[in-house]
Amino acid sequence: MNRRLFLYLSALLVGSLSKITKVLARVLPKASAVPGGVAIVPLGPSGHPPVVHLAEKRVMVVGDEKRWQAIVGIALATKENSTLRISIEWPDGDDLTLPIPVGSKRYATQELTVKPGQVNLSEKNLQRYRRESAHLKRIRGTFSMPLVGSLALMQPCPGKRSSSFGLRRVFNGQSRNPHSGMDLAAPEGTSVVAAAAGRVIDRGDYFFSGNMLLLDHGQGLLTLYAHLSAMDVEVGERVEQGSPIGKVGATGRVTGAHLHFGVYLNAVPVDPALFLA
Ligand SMILES: [Zn+2]
Repeated sequence: MNRRLFLYLSALLVGSLSKITKVLARVLPKASAVPGGVAIVPLGPSGHPPVVHLAEKRVMVVGDEKRWQAIVGIALATKENSTLRISIEWPDGDDLTLPIPVGSKRYATQELTVKPGQVNLSEKNLQRYRRESAHLKRIRGTFSMPLVGSLALMQPCPGKRSSSFGLRRVFNGQSRNPHSGMDLAAPEGTSVVAAAAGRVIDRGDYFFSGNMLLLDHGQGLLTLYAHLSAMDVEVGERVEQGSPIGKVGATGRVTGAHLHFGVYLNAVPVDPALFLA
């Protein structure tokens, strides 16, 4: 190949690559620096991306050499009107911390009165729940490289989106963990698809969540699908955005068929609505 043609073709390739990067960089979740939200923090230019941590958890960094940005998940338990600090290690050895001011967001509280037996778990179920929590905590800490697909997630099944993320539930005066995902109303058997391209990192039958799948999309972005009636993918399998992974069901502790859809960033659940069009 003559040199002129080679340079011309490389220029074309670089041009289209930078276009692709720009498209990826533009599709970001909706920024909402509140408990349960996502902060988008500009980090500035550098030949290579910096390594960012929040509370010892690695944080997603996207962009290009002209402009890197940290995409930070803010835990629901974060105090309103407080300040978080992310640590940034630049490739040239420079380290610094940046403050993230966290605003306020009031989530609703739901008080429920049920039979005492439905609140307190039996010793056997309590032990099962503890085992499952420890396992899921480990899975939630997954951070792999690179980010596989888009940050614009696809709604995993048709149906009305509830806005119950963050809802604090109190059973007979005892508070439970706040609702960590979005419930999608859909009949049993409705096909559930992958919200983005990724890899299956967990598949199991859980006490509260029933049949549940977790996908890793890279850079700490995970999605979770609970109460499934069928799971059609295995751990380690790669999936494309929109490819079928299971079916809506009513497994686990639920009152009716629906999909519980969760989105995680740097090991904390964040509001899925920020990632959906
Ligand atoms: Zn739910």
